[in-house]
Amino acid sequence: MKFSEFVARSKETGLPLPRVILEREEEKTGVPREKLRQYIGGMLETMLEEANKKYGKRQRTLTGMTGSNGYLMRKASPKMISSFNHTAMVAALSMAESNAAMGRVVACPTAGSCGVLSGILYSLWKLENASKEELIDAFIVAGGVGWVISRNATLSGAEGGCQAEIGSATAMAAAALTYYFSRDGMKCSHAAALALKSLMGLVCDPVGGFVEVPCVKRNGIATNIAIAAAEMALAGIESVIPFDEVVEAMRRVGRSLPESLRETGKGGIAATPTARRLVEKLREKNGLAMRQ
Ligand code: SF4
Repeated sequence: MKFSEFVARSKETGLPLPRVILEREEEKTGVPREKLRQYIGGMLETMLEEANKKYGKRQRTLTGMTGSNGYLMRKASPKMISSFNHTAMVAALSMAESNAAMGRVVACPTAGSCGVLSGILYSLWKLENASKEELIDAFIVAGGVGWVISRNATLSGAEGGCQAEIGSATAMAAAALTYYFSRDGMKCSHAAALALKSLMGLVCDPVGGFVEVPCVKRNGIATNIAIAAAEMALAGIESVIPFDEVVEAMRRVGRSLPESLRETGKGGIAATPTARRLVEKLREKNGLAMRQ
C-alpha cells in the first residue's frame, strides 16, 4: 500500500484521510475502526501524560551521558524559535531522556525516536488547544505514514540507519502537523516527503550502543525539521519527488549503508576518540556490558 492510495481514496470518497487509514487497518486486522480509534486514544493519553510528567525535568539515565537536555531547554528563553517549536523541543528531549532512563514511552515509530511525534502533539495540545479528537486524527495520519514506510522500507535503525527511525518519526510528525492545520491529504504527503528527504542517509551511530548520544538531541532537533516541512507544505511548496518514491529511495539507501552505520555502535560519532574515551570510562566505572 502506498500513501498516495490513501490520499486518492480520500479524494474519491470525500472521506477524511484518518478515516481512510483506519478503514484500511480495519480491513487488515478485522478490528472495528471504533475500537482502533479507542486504542489510539489510549496511546495518545499515555503519551501526553508522560510528556507532561517529564516535561523539562532532570532524569537519571543509564549512562549519565544525557538526562539534563530537556531541563536546560526548558530553562532557556528561546531567542529565535517560536514558543511552539520550543515547547515541542522540550517535550521531545524530555521523552527521549525518559526512554534513556527506562521510563514509560510510546514508541512512534521506535523507542529511540519516541520524542518527535510526542513533542509535536504535545505542542498542539498545549499551545493550540487541540482537542483529543483532533489529536487522534493527527496521530492516525502519522500512523499511516509510518505504516507505509514499514511496508515499503523499514523503521529499524539496525536495518536502515537513523533515517529509518528519526527520519520516519519526522515524516510522521510533519504529516500530523500538516493534517491538523489543513486537513489536506496531498499536503500531508508533501510534508512527509520534505521531512524524510531532509534526513535521507542519516546514520545510526549510538555511542557505546546506548540510545542516548546522539539519539536524544536528534529527537529535539527533528521537531524543528518536522515543523519546517509542515510550514513549507502548508505554504503550497511541493516535494518534486512524491513521498512513496522517497520511501523507495530511503530503502535503497538503507541497504547500501555499511553495517558499522546501522546500530552497531562502531561507526559515525560512535567511532570518535571522545566516544571511545567515554565508553572506556563507563566500562571502568560501572562494569557495564557495552558493545565494542
Ligand atoms: S542513532 Fe540509532 S539508536 Fe539512536 S535514535 Fe537513531 S536509529 Fe535509534
